[in-house]
Amino acid sequence: MSLKDEMIKMSEGKKRKTKFKRDVEPLDLLQLTENMRIILRVSKRFFDHHQLEFVITSIKSDREGVKTVSTTHEEGRAVDIRSSHLTEDQIKNFLRFCDNQFSHLGAISSKDLKVRACVYHNNHFHLQARRQETLIDKMKFWR
Ligand SMILES: [Zn+2]
Repeated sequence: MSLKDEMIKMSEGKKRKTKFKRDVEPLDLLQLTENMRIILRVSKRFFDHHQLEFVITSIKSDREGVKTVSTTHEEGRAVDIRSSHLTEDQIKNFLRFCDNQFSHLGAISSKDLKVRACVYHNNHFHLQARRQETLIDKMKFWR
């Protein structure tokens, strides 16, 4: 199924409210890159479609990680999502969904060096987006 068809199917589902872990500042969402916003929006649709609560557990820092392996959170290119209420099958399905539908927006995983939009580690989903060329980068050519 194409991403468009999948999205149409999913948008028919009942929308649920995005929840935040108590110490997460929702306004930090405004600092996310465009690619990250797309990944987040599409991921939310998957959770809505499967009637699962969508809980953001971290935006600006990788607090649940044992050690910080990348700067994706600081750069607004990563968001952590709770997974503890999902079954093993639902976790697998969501990872497959991310790989199929938007791995092209993802970042290189420090785990296996593959480009992924979602990495499952330390019992949460780490959604991550690749760096984006900014307008300034594009203008280098003209300098
Ligand atoms: Zn993370």
